[in-house]
Amino acid sequence: TQSQTDFMEPLYKDSSVKKVIGVVSGKGGVGKSMTTALLAVAANRKGLHAAILDGDVTGPSIPQAFGLHERLLGNQEGIILPALTNFGIEVVSVNLMLEEETQPVIWRGPVVADVVKQFWGKTLWRDIDVMFVDMPPGTGEVPLTVFQSVPLDGIVVVATPQDLVGMIVEKAVNMAKMMNIRILGIVENMSYIKCPDCGKEISIFGESHIDGIADKYQIPVLGKLPIDPKLTKACDEGLIEDVEELYLDGVIETL
Ligand code: ADP
Repeated sequence: TQSQTDFMEPLYKDSSVKKVIGVVSGKGGVGKSMTTALLAVAANRKGLHAAILDGDVTGPSIPQAFGLHERLLGNQEGIILPALTNFGIEVVSVNLMLEEETQPVIWRGPVVADVVKQFWGKTLWRDIDVMFVDMPPGTGEVPLTVFQSVPLDGIVVVATPQDLVGMIVEKAVNMAKMMNIRILGIVENMSYIKCPDCGKEISIFGESHIDGIADKYQIPVLGKLPIDPKLTKACDEGLIEDVEELYLDGVIETL
């Protein structure tokens, strides 16, 4: 059988990446990019040299969250130089390569995979302690090819309370198992809201099912994120690094 590494570009000779963590979801819009951004910021605040490879090629939202708009540059060898956020997180994203940020990307799976492979192998990744890969959503052809394009050490699964009731998360978990990729844990996003007046936590989608899923598949719960308007606003303004409460700071050591 063909090993997973046969599909990947080797890492550029001057690059070094210690750990690669994919952030996945069973479907779009559940906060996968938000979780990727928060994990990278949390790692950065712990003094780690963090990077984000934006593999969500058709819906890239990482540059926006960090306020990055400059086009990516290359060196003389044609190697991509990542963009640097205000606090020093290294980022590559298709959106930093398009002539117009609003241009749609309508590539098929193999093309997406090629781009992600180049982001991995043809970028100068300088002494990265931990890289987070914002994966394409879902369990179809595109995420599958991206799974084969980057050597992931493990994945974090992001889900909303609603997905945890149905089969969506279990599909994502089973896909990772089929690919022999370690699941580092699950994050439940939009788990509750906190009343701004009294601080009471309200589970708008009813009782959480994350512990049941975690038990069933023997994977840790990394956290439950509330719907927090401060997070939305920070992403919209490109200031996710300025957010005080990251919710996921405690999990970096466990990844
Ligand atoms: P995905 O990457 O899964 O498609 P995003 O991370 O882009 O989803 O999130 C979708 C939208 O919801 C974005 O506008 C994001 O800012 C917002 N969002 C995600 N999670 C939260 C949260 N916990 N609190 C507030 N807004 C959130």
